[in-house]
Amino acid sequence: MTNKTNTELKESIRKTALLNAVKHDGKAQNGPVVGKILGEKPEYRTKAKEVSDLVNEVIREVNGLSLQEQLHIIEEKWPETLVKEKVQEERHLPPLANVANYVQIVTRYSPNPDCVLHLGSARAIVLSHEYARMYKGKFILRFEDTDPKLKRPVLEFYESIREDLAWLRCKPNEEYIQSDRIPIYYEYAAKLLNDGNAYVCTCKPEEFRKRILAQKACECRDCPREEHLARWRRMLEGGYREGEAVVRVKTDLNSPNPAVRDWPALRVLDTEKHPHPRVGSKYRVWPLYNLAAGVDDHLMGISHIIRGKEHLTNQVRQEYMYRHLGWKYPETIHYGRLKITGASLSKSKIVQGMREGLYQDWDDPRLATFAALRRRGISPEAIRRLMIDIGPKTSDVVLSWENLYAHNRKILDPVADRYFFVQDPIELTVKHVPREFVARLRLHPDDPERGFREYRITPRGNDAGVAFWVSRKDVDSSKVGTVLRLMELFNVKILSASIYAAEASFEGESYEQARDIKAQLIHWVPVGEDLPCQVVMPDATLAEGVAEGLCKRLKKNDVIQFERFGFVRIDRTDGKLTAYYAQK
Ligand SMILES: [Zn+2]
Repeated sequence: MTNKTNTELKESIRKTALLNAVKHDGKAQNGPVVGKILGEKPEYRTKAKEVSDLVNEVIREVNGLSLQEQLHIIEEKWPETLVKEKVQEERHLPPLANVANYVQIVTRYSPNPDCVLHLGSARAIVLSHEYARMYKGKFILRFEDTDPKLKRPVLEFYESIREDLAWLRCKPNEEYIQSDRIPIYYEYAAKLLNDGNAYVCTCKPEEFRKRILAQKACECRDCPREEHLARWRRMLEGGYREGEAVVRVKTDLNSPNPAVRDWPALRVLDTEKHPHPRVGSKYRVWPLYNLAAGVDDHLMGISHIIRGKEHLTNQVRQEYMYRHLGWKYPETIHYGRLKITGASLSKSKIVQGMREGLYQDWDDPRLATFAALRRRGISPEAIRRLMIDIGPKTSDVVLSWENLYAHNRKILDPVADRYFFVQDPIELTVKHVPREFVARLRLHPDDPERGFREYRITPRGNDAGVAFWVSRKDVDSSKVGTVLRLMELFNVKILSASIYAAEASFEGESYEQARDIKAQLIHWVPVGEDLPCQVVMPDATLAEGVAEGLCKRLKKNDVIQFERFGFVRIDRTDGKLTAYYAQK
C-alpha cells in the first residue's frame, strides 16, 4: 500500500471505529469494523490481514479515549454521522468543566439513610453515576449518617438505598459510611483548632446569634489556642452536655450571609438519649454536615460535586475550611429544583404518611419512591433517560408523570406481551354463532414471531350460544342495537344489556365490515377460560375483573400490557392474579 492510500484507509478506519465505539459504551471491536471497511472498500478484500492489523492499531488508540472524547471527535470531524444516531440514541450530558485538572473523575452520591429514596433523588444519582461512567471515573456512595438526633438514620434504609442504586443500574465503585469515620473528623477538627482556624464556642446559642448578626466575634473566638484545645479535650471526655459546646470554623465575620459566619462544625449530642443505630453511644461529639462532607469530599478525591442549588451556601462555608487546610475545592454543578406535578417528593410527608398508616408500605403506589415505581413496573432505564434529558441545568424544572411515562412507554411497548383483562365484567351471550372459531391473538401486534394466544370458541345449545366476559363500560344499555367487534374474533349486535348481563347476535366475521361501520373494538375473555384478576391502581384503589386464562403462565415481575387498559407488572400469582398498574 502506498503511503497516501494507507493514510486514507486509516482515516476511514478511524471514523468507523469511533462510530462503533460510541455505540458500544466506548469500546470498538475489530470484527464489525473490518467488516464495514471491506464492505465499503472491496478493493482491500485481498489484503484483509493488513486491514485487520491496521484496525487493531486504530482500535487500541480509539478505545483508550473516554466516551466523551470519542463523541467530541465525531462531532468535530463528522457531525453528519451523528444526526441519525442522535434521533435514535439517548441524549448525552454536556461535558464536565476542567476535566484535564484531574487524574480521575470522581463523583459521589451522599444520602442520609433516614428515609427511602424517591424520584427526586434520581437526578443526583443518575447524573453523578453517568458522569463517572462517561469519563471512566469512579462513583462513590457515601452514607451521611452523622445526626442521630434530628435526622436519625434507620438501619433498613442503608440496605434499601443500596438496592435502589443497583436497580437504577448506578452501582457505586466504592461505599463509605460516615459513622465509621468519626475519628477522621476529630483529626481534622483538632488540626483546625491547633492552627487557630477553629474554636470551641461555649456561648449560649442566642447570645452567639446576636453577636454574629452584628458581625461581632463572641468571647470564645479570641481565647488562646491552648484554651480551645483544652475545651476540645473536655468535649471528647464528656465534660460538656448537649448544647454546651460547639466547634466553629472561622470565616470572615463580615460575610454577607450571616449563615456562613463562623459556622458550626462539631457539637455534643446526648447519645445516651439518642443512640446512633450503628454505633450506639460510642461517640458524644458529632460532626455537622459541612465538616463531614467537606473533609470527605477532599479525602475521597471527589473531582466534581453534582448537587442541588440549595447547597450553594454550603460551598461558601466549606471553602473557608478548604483554605484553612490548604485544599482545593472540587468543581461543582448546582442544578435547579425539580418538581414533579402530582408526586409528593417531600421526605417528611412520606415519613409522616407511613407513621399515620396512610400508606401500607414504602412501595405504596401513591408514593414516588423507587420501591413504589419498581413495584408498578416503571423501568429504571426510563428514570435514567428522563434525568439525562433534564441534565444538570441550573433553571428549575417542572415535570409531569407523563414525561416519565413517555420514556417508559418507549421501553415497554416493544417488549411487553399483550393480554386481555376485563375490568368490572358482565356476561355477554352471543347467539347463533354459525361454527367453531379459533381466536389467534398476537402476543405483540407488531411481531407475529412472538407467538399467539389461542382460544377455541365453540357454540353450544339450541341457539348456538357462546358466553364471554366483557367490560360493563363497553356494553351497557346505550349500546343496544349497535354492532361491536370482539377483537380478532367476530362482530356482534347487542340485543339487550342490563347491569348484570347482555345478549347479542352473531353479525359476521369480516373485519372490513366492522371497520366500514366504525364498530367499536372491544376485548373479551371466554367464560370458563378466565382467571380472577385485580390491578392495584396508582391511587391504591383496585380494578377488579377477569384476565384471560393464559395469564396463568405469567410470572411475578413480568411486565405486560392489558389491551385497552394499560401496562401492568405482575405482582402475585397465587390463584388470583394481582398486578400493579404502571401507565396507559
Ligand atoms: Zn462563643
